[in-house]
Formats: sequence, C-alpha cells, structure tokens
Amino acid sequence: MSNNMSYDPNNIFAKILRGDIPCKKIFENDHVLAFHDIHPQAPIHALVIPKGAFVDYADFAANASDVQSAAFTKAIGEIAKLLGAHEQGYRLISNCGVNAHQEVPHYHVHILAGRALGPMLSGK
Ligand code: AMP
Repeated sequence: MSNNMSYDPNNIFAKILRGDIPCKKIFENDHVLAFHDIHPQAPIHALVIPKGAFVDYADFAANASDVQSAAFTKAIGEIAKLLGAHEQGYRLISNCGVNAHQEVPHYHVHILAGRALGPMLSGK
C-alpha cells in the first residue's frame, strides 16, 4: 500500500478489496483485481484496480512501484483477452479527478467492449 494521506480507505473499491462487499470477480493476482461494473455501459464493462491505495491515475503514476505499474499494465491486456474483448477491439478509460467525473476515489481503468463504442466523447 502507498502512504497517500488523501486516500479514503472507506471508498467502495477499498471495501471490495477487503472483501467487505462482494464483486463479480474476473481476475486477481498479487497486485490487481478486476470485476464487472455494476452498471455496465457496454456488453463488456470491466473495472481493473490495483491492490495498493492509490486515489487516481496521477497518484498511481507518481507513486506506484515499477512492479505495481508493470503488473497493472500487463493485467489489463490479459483481462481484455480473457473477456474476448481484444478480438473486435476495446476502449480503456480512466477518469481522473473532478472534470473527468471520477466517482470512486480508488484508481481504476474501465475496459469497454462488445459493440461499436461510438465517438470518444459524447458532448462538448
Ligand atoms: P468512475 O466514474 O470512473 O469513478 O467509475 C466508477 C464506476 O464504478 C462506475 O462505472 C460504477 O458503475 C462502478 N461501480 C460503483 N460501485 C460499484 C460496485 N459496488 N461494483 C462494481 N462497480 C461499481
């Protein structure tokens, strides 16, 4: 775990990591957990989270170890394959902070796939 003082240990993904609330698990290793999004925006909508206490992408980029960074990147590729998402293509999204409408303050990457996903951004 990092020592980030702004990390809220009661956020919903921290509770999932502790096993306090359930998730529909897809993949897990020493560094990474992946599960299905509770409100899917596409036929395939997975969330990939590091096990360390990182608030967002900026926190992870600045403070994750090389091992954590490499494990996270590789896991996303593996999970996309596990889900069959890589065959027709997929989109990765990580909302970071207020302007991106990040809802859960534990770093995560969305994997979206299973249909044509349209333009990258919906509005102005
Ligand atoms: P973001 O806006 O990038 O922070 O996205 C947070 C995502 O977490 C949303 O897509 C939610 O549907 C999803 N979510 C919230 N609570 C849960 C939960 N308990 N299990 C799975 N996904 C969740």
